[in-house]
Amino acid sequence: MRSFTFYERFSRAFHENSSLSKLLVVLTVSGGGIAAYAEANSESQSPRVDLINGSEGDGKRKKVVVLGTGWAGTSFLKNLKNPSYDVQVISPRNYFAFTPLLPSVTCGTVEARSVVEPIRRIVRKKNLNVLFSEAECIGIDAKNKKVYCRSNLGNNKEEFSVDYDVLVISVGARVNTFNTPGVEEHCHFLKEVEDAQRIRETVIENFEKASLPNLSDEERKRILHFVVVGGGPTGVEFAAELHDFVTEDLVKLYPKVMDVVKITLLEAADHILNMFDKRITAFAEEKFHRDGIDLKTGSMVVKVSDKEISTKERNGEISSIPYGMAVWSTGIGTRPLIMDFMKQIGQTNRRALATDEWLRVEGHDNIYAVGDCATINQRKVMEDIAAIFSKADKDKSGTLTVKEFKEVIDDICERYPQVELYLKNKKMKDIVELMKESKGDVEKESIELSIEEFKKALSQVDSQMKNLPATAQVAAQQGSYLADCFNRMEECERNPEGPLRFRGEGRHRFHAFRYKHLGQFAPLGGEQTAAQLPGDWVSIGRSSQWLWYSVYASKQVSWRTRALVITDWTRRYIFGRDSSGI
Ligand code: FAD
Ligand code: MG
Repeated sequence: MRSFTFYERFSRAFHENSSLSKLLVVLTVSGGGIAAYAEANSESQSPRVDLINGSEGDGKRKKVVVLGTGWAGTSFLKNLKNPSYDVQVISPRNYFAFTPLLPSVTCGTVEARSVVEPIRRIVRKKNLNVLFSEAECIGIDAKNKKVYCRSNLGNNKEEFSVDYDVLVISVGARVNTFNTPGVEEHCHFLKEVEDAQRIRETVIENFEKASLPNLSDEERKRILHFVVVGGGPTGVEFAAELHDFVTEDLVKLYPKVMDVVKITLLEAADHILNMFDKRITAFAEEKFHRDGIDLKTGSMVVKVSDKEISTKERNGEISSIPYGMAVWSTGIGTRPLIMDFMKQIGQTNRRALATDEWLRVEGHDNIYAVGDCATINQRKVMEDIAAIFSKADKDKSGTLTVKEFKEVIDDICERYPQVELYLKNKKMKDIVELMKESKGDVEKESIELSIEEFKKALSQVDSQMKNLPATAQVAAQQGSYLADCFNRMEECERNPEGPLRFRGEGRHRFHAFRYKHLGQFAPLGGEQTAAQLPGDWVSIGRSSQWLWYSVYASKQVSWRTRALVITDWTRRYIFGRDSSGI
């Protein structure tokens, strides 16, 4: 019998005893990883994973079909614990990708395989019956409860259909080119892992191309002109990453061409990072200016050819910029599958599938939509005002007293969160103040509102409604909310816990989905990150960079990817980024 080397023993110990590897990573993250440790605990409590491939439903159990393995779909699957469902996952990619680190993948700060996790690993839960099919859903038939799919494997692209009892749509969104001519053909996108890998290859390729002999100065300049279109968080982060890659690593390897390297960021609006606090926008613009990144605001791309980008400037002038590589990052659009489905169910002229506050597609109680492909159509108070009044007016006197209003206010605030926002924005302590405002200056005890006065009191609250942003944070929270509803379905059907049904009888089964904003980051390069945390708390600089490292390490979907990402950061710190053109 052969004896094991030290290395083999070491490696076997880690494979066989996962807690050992966790311990190693806890030590590694100790700089900023309290959150990471909390996550580890929650993961270690989840049951051992066991994928039951190919098992079909037994006819009695409900079949849940999940479309997509992105943030929303994966968060749903990760949190689903109810063993009474048969789950079938359909997605053209058999892995989850941690999109916030894709800009880091474009320059090799983090490797592509460090930010992905096979979905089969994620759903290997002991008591869950999960089947995965690598295929794209090409049609949804809500009437016959069927989805049509096409495998993207092999040459013959097999097509099949799958029946469902409950459908969870989490297919995300696609890149939006706004039908700008030439974008599809000539620009890189930054949406998928493959996109990030292609960008990395092209950057390195362009540096090699520019180093070939016999090139004109003009051609060399063109090849090394990198243009980023879109000043949102992704475009800005990519421009910053590229600048770091060039000034920290490539400068040592390509010193002869350095003086012609140029990065341009084009933004159609007046400022970049519009969704952030003005202080962050100003800091980012100033930093880019100092770094020599050419920031052109008020510049809209109207056409892209293989070597030139045409833009329309504020004064209406069209100008052309020669470029070597362009990355298009201007926002998201609706996937064709979702557009077809919206047509089928009469939701035309929308950007995303409309759901109710429980994430059910409007008019389809057995279809849920979460993440970037969906938007919550928050019910307006004014649509239900008569029903709310009549429910609240318990004694059917035709007027509403303070006491009567107070009894239903919690339900009103939960069912219509805009009421609470309105009170907060108006700096009102409670609804009595709102009642007083509509009634004029009267004694608190004597306030009684007629239906007309009640309408007047609440007439402005609907102006507070806002759509949720298309972010990983929203998608992940929706996925885990939905899983939690599924986990407690039987219990909540028996004892509904949601708000009063104003237009019907009884209560809603579940509390409505509420998004909790935990803040957002904008990495700006040079180990400087801007963070906007709840309560409009803004922090910019190195300390936020450490917070960024710590949050992104803790948010990794598994201990394996967490370890890989941290190792990549360490490797980059010690050896720099690799620029081999493989
Ligand atoms: P996705 O994560 O896009 O997942 C969609 C899934 O559906 C994929 O698995 C896809 O393969 C699959 N699919 C597609 N079509 C079909 C079909 N026809 N049938 C079946 N499956 C299908 N958000 C943040 O909050 N913070 C960040 O820092 C951040 N950074 C980002 C950086 C980049 C580069 C990008 C591109 C996005 C970033 N986002 C960030 C946004 C975030 O990634 C998205 O909001 C999030 O991915 C939405 O989740 P989702 O599940 O709806 O869609
Ligand atoms: Mg009354």
